[in-house]
Amino acid sequence: MSASLSPLLTPATPVVVDHGAGSYVYDADGRSWLDFTTGIGVTSTGHCHPAVVAAAREQVGKLIHGQFTTVRHNPILRLTEMLGDVLPTGLDSVFYANSGSEAVEASLRLARMATGRNNIIAFQGGFHGRTFAAATLTTAGTKFRTGFGALVPGVYSAPFPYALRYGWDEETAVDFALQELDFLLSTTSAVVDTAAFIIEPVLGDGGYLPTPLRFLQGLRERADQHGIVLIVDEVQTGVGRTGTFWGHEPSGIVPDILITAKGIASGFPISAIAASTSLMSKAWPGSQGGTYGGNAVSCAAAIATLGVVESEGLVQNSAAQGERLIAGLREAAASVSTIADVRGRGLMIGIEFTDPDGTPRPDLAAGSQQAAIDEGLLLLTCGTRGNVVRFIPPLIVTSEQVDEGVAAWSKAVAAAGA
Ligand code: PMP
Repeated sequence: MSASLSPLLTPATPVVVDHGAGSYVYDADGRSWLDFTTGIGVTSTGHCHPAVVAAAREQVGKLIHGQFTTVRHNPILRLTEMLGDVLPTGLDSVFYANSGSEAVEASLRLARMATGRNNIIAFQGGFHGRTFAAATLTTAGTKFRTGFGALVPGVYSAPFPYALRYGWDEETAVDFALQELDFLLSTTSAVVDTAAFIIEPVLGDGGYLPTPLRFLQGLRERADQHGIVLIVDEVQTGVGRTGTFWGHEPSGIVPDILITAKGIASGFPISAIAASTSLMSKAWPGSQGGTYGGNAVSCAAAIATLGVVESEGLVQNSAAQGERLIAGLREAAASVSTIADVRGRGLMIGIEFTDPDGTPRPDLAAGSQQAAIDEGLLLLTCGTRGNVVRFIPPLIVTSEQVDEGVAAWSKAVAAAGA
């Protein structure tokens, strides 16, 4: 009998990767692509960074699995110590899981246990994962939440300040979204029933839309006023992706729970939530956990990743190369009437295609993403309307590689007839 991969796993490109090194992936014939997908924001130190490879190799020979509710091991202790240096002040207690979705689930359970309240408010276009509760929070597209029956009760979606969709300026969109949130709290999900708000600092799969800083501040104010837990989902935005260590930093707020995954371990599966010890203590020991959370090899890879981020100045590189990339993409977009917006923070940049009257053009997003493959550039699309191309280079990207990406992209846009 021969078996094949499930059609559930239809990939965005036909590329069969043999190996990766730095900013590039290669097929078995040696053809290379500049990888501006980084496995959806994961391989931030580049493919197979020597320091990460060495740390993982060394750990594999020492201890692979040390089940964290059974024993402690050095990598989990050391990683937690290192996170203490980068986490926002006060978030001094860390819980580990394997994926972004699992960490999201953990944050919801913690918020419910801490408040004794049921409801969670997420924001339209948000993406928080595929498990049942995480999918319930996810409104980046119906495909993520349709056809598999009842979702988790007590979850509401409030408007996100997506100015371009409404044809408004950002301030108007923020005022509207905050007003609608207050309306939801006074009509639908009473404060006494509302456990948490959950928000991404930049909407990821929902369209690479930076969350306006005033909106994050408005959420913090309301959370403080009403005793609601503010969860910031940094699964995609964390660890330097947006040009600051955490995506929420420029807003000046401190979340109650921060979720991290993806870029923290260069491709090894690990995720974490961080909160104050007093908040974390509201959950009973054993009420959360799992067999593999905080795996020793993943922890060793995360320690090496954090070391590389620090020693190679990758947060600063993300900010600097992000500016170069967005400037190059804006210049390339200037003559394309169907590009409505080139936006982003750091190395998390989205290009939105619409007709001049605002009609979304998902065909041009998909067409240019596909044409880029022939130009040696891997990209992904995203967006609630499927009309955004996203650029997620590794944080080690050089100026030459940024310029190479922009040149390849310009050719792809022309080839797609945009
Ligand atoms: N939250 C955010 C913001 C994400 O971008 C993702 C993944 N795209 C997730 C949660 C889910 O993470 P995972 O796929 O590891 O479960």
